[in-house]
Amino acid sequence: MESAHHYNRRKFLRSLSLGLGALTLAPALDTFAGIYPGSATKKLGIALVGLGGYSSGQLAPALQQTKNCYLAGIVTGTPAKADEWASKYNIPAKNIYNYSNFDTIINNPAIDIVYVVLPVSMHKDFTIRAAKAGKHVICEKPMALNAAECREMITACKNAGRMLSIGYRLHFEPHNIEMMRLGQKQAYGKLTSLDTANGFTWGGNSDSWRLKKAMSGGGALMDMGIYAIQGSRYTTGMEPIYVTATEKKTRPDLFGEVDETIYWELEFPDQFVATGKSSYNANWSYLKAVAEKGTFEISPAYGYSGITGNTTAGRMPFPQINQQAAQMDNFADCIHQKRPTIVPGEEGLKDMLVIDAIYKSIASGKKERI
Ligand code: NAD
Repeated sequence: MESAHHYNRRKFLRSLSLGLGALTLAPALDTFAGIYPGSATKKLGIALVGLGGYSSGQLAPALQQTKNCYLAGIVTGTPAKADEWASKYNIPAKNIYNYSNFDTIINNPAIDIVYVVLPVSMHKDFTIRAAKAGKHVICEKPMALNAAECREMITACKNAGRMLSIGYRLHFEPHNIEMMRLGQKQAYGKLTSLDTANGFTWGGNSDSWRLKKAMSGGGALMDMGIYAIQGSRYTTGMEPIYVTATEKKTRPDLFGEVDETIYWELEFPDQFVATGKSSYNANWSYLKAVAEKGTFEISPAYGYSGITGNTTAGRMPFPQINQQAAQMDNFADCIHQKRPTIVPGEEGLKDMLVIDAIYKSIASGKKERI
């Protein structure tokens, strides 16, 4: 059916002019129903833990646009940042914590959600501490250093009766949601191939935590490849069973401890194979699917904005949205409505199982079971 369908540009333009809320009304966009909630009666308070690049550049600005939650508190190891953020975002002193007194957040009813935005090696501890303090948790990707840590985090949140969500913003991004729909509904028939890549050319500091294995758990695969693994999983709607992977390094001076470029092949049920790659030495961002009766792809696929999609039916007619605002509003709505998040800890665990198997395959030189 889909191959006969052309995206309805007029309806799209109308929905755009009405704003994001109207997206849920556009017939071509019924996949989005429920993803973008309306405003809740009480905004939930979020505390960001770790005020680095992602918190300051993306999450704090997004929290100025959210309808169901707001920036209520911060947790930082740097007193100067606490002062700066307090005045910039009007955060009361009682909602400001450091890493040692963080657990006393249990006594603060103004904080409903703790958002962990720290180096990967700190995700597990802060997620568990937050849950034990009675808070719902959003933890940034990659969820943890390995699958075993993910399981501990899931158990701890479950035991505390708190919800755990992973910072997978692209589950709220229209073009990526369309890839899920076209692939999972087999709009162009059965998939015949899928190829995806994500990477950037490293321009950062050589002393960054991202280059230290103990803190990052790995290099471009953990940081960027995880999106490509996600893309493969949500476009096919299946879980991979085996993986074969190889690694290439051109700058061992910089990437001595972590992976620079990795190529992989994921084997899904029915012998379906998806190829993928990640790099700190190439500006890649695409997700391309070929099916029996058509193709659908997004490129760039995984950034904060500028995402473009093309299918056999034409260009995907979707707007760029603030992904982080949509992600956090959706989670707050899930808490309000007592329904599960669409990106729970289990979703982070599934990617980590793939990543663990990719590193295992590189070490063994063989195909590995996921
Ligand atoms: P960053 O280096 O810019 O910030 C890290 C923060 O952690 C800093 O504020 C730093 O002071 C703090 N920190 C605490 N203890 C530290 C220690 N021992 N060593 C180093 N820093 C320490 O990193 P970032 O880019 O903000 O990334 C943070 C997390 O967010 C990572 O998990 C990353 O993968 C994730 N992230 C996600 C996205 C996304 O699109 N979802 C984008 C960027 C980053």
